[in-house]
Amino acid sequence: MSSQRGNVSRTRAQKHKNRFVFKNDLHDKTPQQIRLNAMHVSTVCQRCKEQIEWKIKYKKYKPLTQAKTCAHCHQRTVRKAYHVICKDCAVKAKCCAKCLKSADEVSIEAPGPTPREEQQLQVEMDRLIKSFSERKRRAFLRYMQKGKKQEQVDEQELEAQEKAKRVAHTRDELLDKIKQLNLAEEDDEEFDDEEEEDDDDSEFDSEAEEEEEDDESEEEEQQKPTKAK
Ligand SMILES: [Zn+2]
Ligand SMILES: [Zn+2]
Repeated sequence: MSSQRGNVSRTRAQKHKNRFVFKNDLHDKTPQQIRLNAMHVSTVCQRCKEQIEWKIKYKKYKPLTQAKTCAHCHQRTVRKAYHVICKDCAVKAKCCAKCLKSADEVSIEAPGPTPREEQQLQVEMDRLIKSFSERKRRAFLRYMQKGKKQEQVDEQELEAQEKAKRVAHTRDELLDKIKQLNLAEEDDEEFDDEEEEDDDDSEFDSEAEEEEEDDESEEEEQQKPTKAK
């Protein structure tokens, strides 16, 4: 029998093939499913991250109904399904919250900011932005709203790369941008500030955006012609 355990000599093609890729939210648009699909799986190693993401993708993920006891601190602090230690303990011990492998052996997905941290960052940035000139403020807000491409760990998923989600910049990146803006405009800021009306600003804005986009497309194009030579 071809389906016998250990029989790997089957040569005929698979009889049934799915014509459409499995979509976990085809018949389930509940907030929970949407939340799961958007969830950033973190504080685990790449292998465990893939396992958990697989469970989400194929609707095998069973969220915890109540917090589980952490294997390190023995408190009821584990809030993520399949994790055996809590986030704080995983961060402290620098290990995967699921398989407990150390960060020395495997790369651990860093946790994203919590809603509270995001709020704190927003407050901090709002305060900084207040001290900016109009032009600088616009440039910075544009940078912040644009976000950045999410890094793709799995290089095989080229299709996914095209649809790469854009995520928010980290605090360090935002502070870097502020530094950069300060350096670029240190000279003219104090003298020209008053005179620069909306006309000037919008010109500057559109130019800056065009430049940015040109840079990107040039980079892409530069890779092609070099091959031909
Ligand atoms: Zn713990
Ligand atoms: Zn792991």
